[in-house]
Amino acid sequence: MTQDELFKVLVAHCKEYGFIFPSSEIYDGLAAVYDYGQMGSELKNNIKSYWWNAMTRLNENIVGIDSCIFMHPRIWEASGHVGAFNDPLIDNKDSKKRYRADVLIEDYLGKIEEKINKEVAKGRKKFGDSFNEEQFRATNPNVLREKAKWDTVHDRYVAAEKANDLAEYKNIIVDCGIVCPISGTCNWTDVRQFNLMFSTSMGSTSEGASTIYLRPETAQGIFVNYLNVQKTGRMKLPFGIAQIGKAFRNEIVARQFIFRMREFEQMEMQFFIKPGTELDWFAKWKENRMKWHVNLGMGAENYRFHDHEKLAHYANAATDIEFNFPFGFKELEGVHSRTDFDLGNHQKFSGKKIQYFDPETNESYGPYVIETSIGVDRMVLAVLSHAYKEETLENGESRVVLSIPAPLAPVKCAVMPLLKNNEELVGLAQKIMDDLKFDFNCQYDEKDSIGKRYRRQDAIGTPFCVTVDHESLTDGCVTIRARGTMEQKRVAISELRSIIDKQVNMNNLLRNL
Ligand code: ATP
Repeated sequence: MTQDELFKVLVAHCKEYGFIFPSSEIYDGLAAVYDYGQMGSELKNNIKSYWWNAMTRLNENIVGIDSCIFMHPRIWEASGHVGAFNDPLIDNKDSKKRYRADVLIEDYLGKIEEKINKEVAKGRKKFGDSFNEEQFRATNPNVLREKAKWDTVHDRYVAAEKANDLAEYKNIIVDCGIVCPISGTCNWTDVRQFNLMFSTSMGSTSEGASTIYLRPETAQGIFVNYLNVQKTGRMKLPFGIAQIGKAFRNEIVARQFIFRMREFEQMEMQFFIKPGTELDWFAKWKENRMKWHVNLGMGAENYRFHDHEKLAHYANAATDIEFNFPFGFKELEGVHSRTDFDLGNHQKFSGKKIQYFDPETNESYGPYVIETSIGVDRMVLAVLSHAYKEETLENGESRVVLSIPAPLAPVKCAVMPLLKNNEELVGLAQKIMDDLKFDFNCQYDEKDSIGKRYRRQDAIGTPFCVTVDHESLTDGCVTIRARGTMEQKRVAISELRSIIDKQVNMNNLLRNL
């Protein structure tokens, strides 16, 4: 199965098993908006709690807040979103499809990189153990030709981005012969800027109503509450404020399922620090966030840093943590050193003094900020795309299994009586359910053969299935079956809680951080 096919199968699986549905589906859906079903919302909540607890419980100097989606419109002027939260868009006149000009160029550069990597792989195969990659990259004529092409386009792209030169974006697209994947033509409109914020109006009469925006990021809710939290929490620098909440962006090209949505959720943490210490803290948070990801056991090789070459004018360091999605390595989280840009601008625009009095040095200053910002939905996609596996079993049958990290799995344990019309078996299974449900999200399942029930649980990623049979009534034991190995063991009912807990308890994940 190609990665493309795998992605389509995954999207269908998410719908079939109650993880993610297209929004408003009975009205033919709403572009780039998705609803989480009964399994998806459990998974999402578990991801949020892993993040929230890692931030606020494991760090005594990080506290959490919950600010509103609606905010004073001046906030978005101060943050720069009204003036500059734009994407360069371009339309193909033949297909009438709209694209982001920067994405078209970046995809083109990505294809050149792929070609180079293929050449390198060929070289490695040909020369075997004696292969010297560095030398090969420096001398192979095919690699050098592609690299020169990449450098030229990349330099032009970076210069255009820096100068905000929209005409040059179009020139690059035309010069590189980038065509629309639908029409196959190079018949492009000019490139225009498009503001990504959604607006609505607040107030009951049309004269009294004012335009307000749906927040495009949660971070500003943290900045404008900096003084409140610092004072009421008697926080001393360095300290952080964490928040999980919805954000809205009118994305031009909203593709790739829940990777790019118009309504999505972010988990952001702003870490306030003394100016001059930001590069140290940036390095620490980079490492800290990577550890949080790798700790889930989805393979360190599936993550990489992508340091930003071009920094926003207020930032002095920025990196993306990229994940190996079915469509390649793409941004999952951003770690940014934002200086005092946001607090400084809010001070200017609001006229309120936003400073920190440092009791150690007896001076007041505007704190600097390191931000970590991750999309909940992208994290859900990372977990699901990594987890989805189609396996052929020893007996020739196949199964679809979601190997979701156990503490994140929506259902932790399924309890099944061997037969549904045997009162005693059903009674004991219900009793076990009633006992376990206070510790774990459990599902009771009595329909179909045990084999079919196992498959159903595999397909939603349940780490354990517990079967109650006739012997259980006399020996007080049940069969517990593990999702990954499919191994079945006979264990005492009284041991169930501790066996399950060992694997699924979120605290074990947190302890490893
Ligand atoms: P991209 O370059 O992919 O548009 P970004 O750099 O604009 O992302 P940030 O503004 O840094 O993203 O937002 C922080 C995080 O929020 C991202 O790393 C991503 O996980 C998530 N995110 C941003 N936009 C979306 C979206 N449209 N849908 C889902 N998640 C998103």
